[in-house]
Amino acid sequence: MSAVPLRNNKAAPSAVRTVTVLGATGSIGDSTMDLLRAARERYRVEALTANGNVQALAKLAKEFDARFVAIADPSRLAELKQALAGTRTECGAGESAIIEAAARPADWVMAAVSGAAGLKPALAAVDRGATVALANKECLVCAGDFFMERALKANACILPADSEHNALFQALSSGNREELVRVIITASGGPFRTWAPADIEQATLAQALKHPNWSMGQKITIDSASMMNKGLEVIEASYLFALAPEEIDVLVHPQSIVHGMVEFSDRSVVAQLGAPDMRTPIAHCLGWPDRIKGPAARLDLAKIGQLTFEAPDFERFPALRLAYDALRTGRGATTVFNAANEVAVAAFIAGKIKFGAIARLVEATIEAWIRAGNLAPLSSADDAIAVDHSARNKAASLLPQIALKAS
Ligand code: NAD
Ligand code: MG
Repeated sequence: MSAVPLRNNKAAPSAVRTVTVLGATGSIGDSTMDLLRAARERYRVEALTANGNVQALAKLAKEFDARFVAIADPSRLAELKQALAGTRTECGAGESAIIEAAARPADWVMAAVSGAAGLKPALAAVDRGATVALANKECLVCAGDFFMERALKANACILPADSEHNALFQALSSGNREELVRVIITASGGPFRTWAPADIEQATLAQALKHPNWSMGQKITIDSASMMNKGLEVIEASYLFALAPEEIDVLVHPQSIVHGMVEFSDRSVVAQLGAPDMRTPIAHCLGWPDRIKGPAARLDLAKIGQLTFEAPDFERFPALRLAYDALRTGRGATTVFNAANEVAVAAFIAGKIKFGAIARLVEATIEAWIRAGNLAPLSSADDAIAVDHSARNKAASLLPQIALKAS
């Protein structure tokens, strides 16, 4: 049994579906609102949330006549109320309001907050048995298997919205679990795919933010450049589909057309393809178990001409090796991996560390964590959040020495 419905056996949704979008003002949020906008008569918006962008949130709330909106930054509540004066939209602020938004009765919830901050809200939707389109991979990486256990217990349905996992979700229905040999997730290789190690070490923020194929939020774009994103996705795939690390391969595919593949025992490899546009996997989640019309460009393989593949380079991109190691270690190591990476990315954005130091900080934090004898199974959200917080403190305390250390 899995909380990811690998066979289309759920009843079709009612005519009008109520939806909530957590992280509505972000890149995934934006794509989701675009899809909702294209079929207004089919969806009613229950709740929308954002971190601090009051004006963007209020604009969406008015456009979609949302019942409830929540802003994470409590100091912005008065501004939000003012922006929504005269409407019937209720407002809330702070983490508890974001959780309330997720807990309100919507059939379908897009979990698109960025970072581990999305864990509690995603769990609030899971615990009431909602259908949750999960884009927020960090919350899954942070909470490990119990996230999926809780989903199963609450009869929630987790629909993978990350493009590679959505591809696996689609391909996996071609066979049974016993027939599966391995899954392959592709990686564009990011802007530094062909760069020499010394140049990667010194890469600037502007260079890291220039993704060759995908337009995404800042954190995930930097994670793509370091290949931390692929590392997070290996862990995400393991938890989502209950796969061992050995059953998950990464393949660099610079064109980002093939998103994921599943190899079965008869040596058939089933792949999902599409233009690199997040509206396609989101549309799959929004329409599921049916298919809706997607707005992405149609795939023209004759025009693209060539699809190429190469093995990932674990030396130039140590993030990938660290992710597999953390997954094998278990007992909170993936939570530490994610927390240290969030601290490292914030430090890189703030100009406190070099690009190459991101992976070094993650590695040093995990090593210190293991040396201190802190590994322990996580059985609750509180456990995961406690580990997340201590790992952040540990990473922050190691930051000055990592910043000084040459590669
Ligand atoms: P983004 O930075 O563009 O948007 C994040 C959203 O979350 C915003 O609405 C922001 O206001 C909100 N938010 C941020 N911090 C918050 C906090 N502490 N509390 C409450 N709300 C907060 O990020 P994104 O690129 O849309 O990514 C969202 C998630 O989806 C990430 O986990 C990312 O890894 C995943 N994802 C993104 C893409 C993509 O193409 N952008 C693809 C696959 C997966
Ligand atoms: Mg992805």
